[in-house]
Amino acid sequence: MSQFQRVCLVHYHEIGLKGHNRKVFEMRLLRNIEAMLEGFPVATVMRISGRLCVFIKEGTDFELASRIEHTLAKLPGIARVSCGYKCDRDIEQIKQAAVDALNDVSQFVTFKVAARRSHTDFPISSMDMNQIVGAHLCQAFPEKIVKMHDPDVMVRVEVIQGNAYVYAASIRGIGGLPVGSSGRVVTLLSSGIDSPVATWRIARRGAECIGVHFSGRPQTASTSEYLVDDIAKVLEKTGCIARVYMVPLGDYQREISLEAPPSLRVILYRRLMFKVAQEIARREGAKAIVTGESLGQVASQTIDNINATNAAVEMPVFRPLIGTDKQEIIAEAQELGTFEISSQDAPDCCTLFMPRNPETHANLEKVLEAEALFPIEQWVRELADAAEPHDYRCPSYKPKKKRPRKDV
Ligand code: ATP
Ligand code: MG
Repeated sequence: MSQFQRVCLVHYHEIGLKGHNRKVFEMRLLRNIEAMLEGFPVATVMRISGRLCVFIKEGTDFELASRIEHTLAKLPGIARVSCGYKCDRDIEQIKQAAVDALNDVSQFVTFKVAARRSHTDFPISSMDMNQIVGAHLCQAFPEKIVKMHDPDVMVRVEVIQGNAYVYAASIRGIGGLPVGSSGRVVTLLSSGIDSPVATWRIARRGAECIGVHFSGRPQTASTSEYLVDDIAKVLEKTGCIARVYMVPLGDYQREISLEAPPSLRVILYRRLMFKVAQEIARREGAKAIVTGESLGQVASQTIDNINATNAAVEMPVFRPLIGTDKQEIIAEAQELGTFEISSQDAPDCCTLFMPRNPETHANLEKVLEAEALFPIEQWVRELADAAEPHDYRCPSYKPKKKRPRKDV
């Protein structure tokens, strides 16, 4: 075990472009990191020299440090995580820390040292440090080769204020912006493949997500709710989802299926879902709705039908997957870790009371005419009231303050 304290250096890309707002984004990311690393042996998280640095408690082994690194790599806002050691501003210590850091890299053939000092009061220039540390590493790893252009590993040495930081192992993060820096959205979460990926994409842009799932309960079992809960637990690892509201839609769908023209049923179900999602969004202080729709993928996702459902709400509807192919969505779901859960069969409200020939080019006037048969506004209130919240860990989330309702 190294004599030096382990550190993970967090690099970001987009936050660096934020000009005078940068501090706000950095603080958001810092707080998300602190919360998501709760329970890990972390001494402190600090901003140093334009980056965030996670100081790991002395005595932490490689395996646990590596779990910290991989947890960080999943957090929106982090472009890269580099792991290494903190030591004194002393060239002998720096040389030893470089050996320890390179020892942590599993497979490589070529390497290069890149040193930098934030103040010129350190007596050795960056060029000289490259030479000295490079020569020492050549001795310590005689079978490895120095390569100036595109090496397998960069050994970075940074002398910052009173300390030096030396790191070599590095993994890519998922990039984007820290959750909570782009506001709150309501995301329509089915137990299917697409909507978890859509949720994930919008979360990576810094949105804090509140899921809404419509189950066929009490007309079906609650299987889809369990699957959505499992999906939320995967998303939770990135700190992006605060809640999921489970909404039992079965009885309302049944009413629609008994009265409305069969071809319009799906559109009416979907308009009702959007309206309930909008009501929940208002109650939560969320300002947009997100779906996993992809143009033309199924009957309800033609342009006409998308228009007919969009017209049900005033809030903007974001569709992060609208131009993405199913194969790409599947690959993303696999990477995210939701694919297996989504591949399980569960009847949700969408499989309930499906017509044989759903309309593919809905006419809004006809849809509104059919919808007028039902007390929609009352249903929306009933369903939003009946929605059951399940909570997840989302560091940026603060529930909206409830105002006393005037109508009761
Ligand atoms: P997914 O794979 O996300 O289920 P899909 O390909 O099955 O999508 P649709 O059934 O037309 O397509 O659903 C389109 C979008 O509507 C979904 O991505 C999701 O955002 C939303 N949605 C569908 N069913 C539900 C549901 N039961 N609860 C909440 N949202 C839903
Ligand atoms: Mg579906």
